[in-house]
Amino acid sequence: MIEISAPVIETEEIQAATKVLRSGQLTQGPKVMELEAAFARFCGTKYAVALSSGTAAIHAALFAAGIGEGDEVITTPYTFIATINPIIMLGAKPVLVDIDPDTFNINPKLIKSAITSKTKAIIPVDLYGQPCDYDAIDSIAKESSLVVVEDACQAVGAEYKGSKTGALGDIGCISLYATKNIMSGEGGMITTNDKQYEAITRRFRQHGMTTQYEYDGVGLNYRMTDLQAAIAVEQLKKVTLLNSLRQKNAKSLDEGLKQVSGIVLPIRAKDRSHVFHQYTIRVTDKFPLSRDELVAELKAKGIMAGIYYPKPLHFYKHVADLGYKPGDFPVSELAASQALSLPIHPSLKTTDIDYIIRTISAM
Ligand SMILES: *Cc1c(COP(=O)(O)O)cnc(C)c1O
Repeated sequence: MIEISAPVIETEEIQAATKVLRSGQLTQGPKVMELEAAFARFCGTKYAVALSSGTAAIHAALFAAGIGEGDEVITTPYTFIATINPIIMLGAKPVLVDIDPDTFNINPKLIKSAITSKTKAIIPVDLYGQPCDYDAIDSIAKESSLVVVEDACQAVGAEYKGSKTGALGDIGCISLYATKNIMSGEGGMITTNDKQYEAITRRFRQHGMTTQYEYDGVGLNYRMTDLQAAIAVEQLKKVTLLNSLRQKNAKSLDEGLKQVSGIVLPIRAKDRSHVFHQYTIRVTDKFPLSRDELVAELKAKGIMAGIYYPKPLHFYKHVADLGYKPGDFPVSELAASQALSLPIHPSLKTTDIDYIIRTISAM
């Protein structure tokens, strides 16, 4: 079976985790501090704050940006649900904007007409590991004084014009979930150059606590453990290597699949790097099988393909209830019906990639 994802866990991770277990210091401690310093250095931001998940990071980031009742936050309908649930939980409204068909990322040309007097923030999502068009997004954000909260959960290590994800907006959110490019099982990170955002997110992850049993507003328990941080510290040392293995696999798939008619290969937009959290193709009407038939055929032949995501977010009831209906975002809807992600993770062997190429070419 060729899996769609596989965490790279080597001696370093196991030794680091064992050391923490032996130390008895399992909760947030020195390893979390070490990870935060390393992450800030890696992303090129002044601060990094570790949290229990990428979802917690997005929630904390929006809280820090002051998002609340009656506010509007612009984002994409073509993402994981965790991008928008925190908006809704804070009492704000996600205002969805359709995507660019080439990159699957939010289409900056459509953002302006979605801005109202209530708009406070934009959450661009660096989907599949490719950064959004940040020059365009930044100029719109500046014009309307909007906070840019970057959902870089899938794109750790990717760059836009030489800057790393996490540093491309006002606050960056990164996930360390088990299937992401680097991981700690569960985990998340906020990156920012803003001292206020850093301070607020630090309090928010710890019940709003300032000093022992003194609270400055609400907060939750969104802390990362030292056990997770120890694993993530080792993973972060390997991120550039692991990403380059994904990029190498992507090149091989490009080469092998380019002659297959009816599928569209991933497009790399200019001025940025793609770290291929997913290698996502489109299966069009010209391919002999439908997308879902292809997924089933691949599975029968031992290749686990993934569908990210089978429905755009406005198809889910709690989102539709905010005033959306099918047909509202046609580019996202088409993508959800055509997208198929092939295995691309660093542990794939050359023979696995050849087998994937041969299998698809023979359909
Ligand atoms: C994984 C992911 C999240 C959430 O991260 P978790 O660590 O799983 O909570 C948010 N947004 C996107 C785009 C993701 O891929």
